[in-house]
Amino acid sequence: MALFDIRGVEMHGDRMWSWRWVKRAIDEGAAHGLNALVLHKNDLIDMLAFPARHFGVEQIWARWPVRYHNIDNNRQYLRAILRHAGDNGMRVFLEVKEVSFHDSLLQARPELWKETAICASDPFWWEYLEAKVDELMTALPDLGGLIVSPATRETRVTISANECRCPRCLATQAEDWYADLIGAMHRPLAARGKILAVRDFSYTRSNQGAVLRAAGRVSSDIVISLKNTPHDYYPTFPDNPSIGHVGAHPQWVEFDSWGQFFGLGIFPAIVLDDMRERFRHCAANRVSGVVARTDWEVISDGSVFDTLNLTNFSGFAELARDPTIAASALVAAQLDRPVATTLGGGLDEARFDLTAHPRARAALQDVLLRSWSAMSKTVFVLRHVFHEDCMFPDTLRKAEMMLLEVHGIAEWEPAQRGALDMSADKLAEIYAEKDAAVAEADAMSVDITAATEDLPEPGRSQLRDTFSLFAWYARGFRACARACFAVRLHRQVGSPATQAAAGPEIDALAAYRDALRRRLEGTRYAYIAYWMLDTARLDHLVTDLRASLTMSSTRCASSSMTT
Ligand SMILES: [Zn+2]
Repeated sequence: MALFDIRGVEMHGDRMWSWRWVKRAIDEGAAHGLNALVLHKNDLIDMLAFPARHFGVEQIWARWPVRYHNIDNNRQYLRAILRHAGDNGMRVFLEVKEVSFHDSLLQARPELWKETAICASDPFWWEYLEAKVDELMTALPDLGGLIVSPATRETRVTISANECRCPRCLATQAEDWYADLIGAMHRPLAARGKILAVRDFSYTRSNQGAVLRAAGRVSSDIVISLKNTPHDYYPTFPDNPSIGHVGAHPQWVEFDSWGQFFGLGIFPAIVLDDMRERFRHCAANRVSGVVARTDWEVISDGSVFDTLNLTNFSGFAELARDPTIAASALVAAQLDRPVATTLGGGLDEARFDLTAHPRARAALQDVLLRSWSAMSKTVFVLRHVFHEDCMFPDTLRKAEMMLLEVHGIAEWEPAQRGALDMSADKLAEIYAEKDAAVAEADAMSVDITAATEDLPEPGRSQLRDTFSLFAWYARGFRACARACFAVRLHRQVGSPATQAAAGPEIDALAAYRDALRRRLEGTRYAYIAYWMLDTARLDHLVTDLRASLTMSSTRCASSSMTT
């Protein structure tokens, strides 16, 4: 018996509009026992419903003919997906952020715009949202239901980031607003026996809970969907504290198989042991569904399906049925199939087979099992998120925002408060972690190079370049961390010794940047490689750190003159 009733694959990027990739997600998911497909795009309902209650045919034809036909196209495309998913035993859910609307609405109803902002509390929104969902479910009656994030600031009508200052908005409580929104979506779904899942996605602990209370006011049959770790997919973070605390609601938990925060799939990071532990926690807390994300809306042409992280996806599905399978067995099973790397650009001719090459295959299996250890020390600093969507930091301030504010771990694990306060010992600890990352990444690259001597192309170059660039990536984060934290230490201590130590670290970062630029010159890798290894960001960082160091030193010098 499977550990979870609902086992889903989620597509969040533009590949959901490519039959080739959607079919792949359904076929591979079904082969591993998944039974749900989630298509996640913030304004997906607006791409599938007018709604006709608010837009006449003549009005749309006169001004928005492209939208008119887009919706017809999108409905037929979704119907093809629903048929293929249904043939493979999968239900299809749409994941959206609401309230969303098409621009044509403001033309039809200019009163929704109040002085400087869209009025979030206008009761029209609930009638409009219910009409959209009703029309969607009439057009696509085979959908399993909807998943919505009501508390996000990533949508156009939001109470979380509402800028309307009308008396009604100022008097509106967020929880009441969420309850109105959830109710408007729940009514047409419940009438058809379909599922509504509500995501309690929040940046801080204090924001958690209002959505849950609002869902409880509407119906206890509403599913609460939570990320496995709080705020976002960081494997170094504790379990999401809301898991197991959702009252009578069914719970689903969302995972990332691709690596939005751990290498974007181009540099592998196999997190199967982490998934296994979190599955145990989920099962012990009555979670009934798990979903694996395979891509990310920002990256237009990438997903787990053409990366070495594909084992995270197939392994997710297998562990959701049987959490006792060893990670090595899951990796081995995946390597029985054709292998792709991000550097192959998703092309069929770039895939290669390792079954006739036991040496290369054994080496790849071995380094994949070591990959998370190297990645965790590369892009995290003592478990804190040091990168910006896997890119190098481009200013010290930005690095600190990622580490302590936007993705702060202390919000969720109070013992981490002050964990990055600087001292000479702390600096040494960070340097040691980054040295370990480089040593592990170098060792992976050496092993792959040695084991692929006889491997034919295209596998030989792809594997060698992937792990060579991984080693460059680890070196880059080491250089960034050494320079950033040396300047931080100087800012805190302000001694001639800390100043003298920080300058050469910035010089070393600049030297790394120059060497990386030479390494990448004339290369033609898949574009994500240049996102990961963007030397322009290092230009900014070097300039910023030199300015920070000068400013701190000037401040220290002037304060020492006055005391
Ligand atoms: Zn208002």
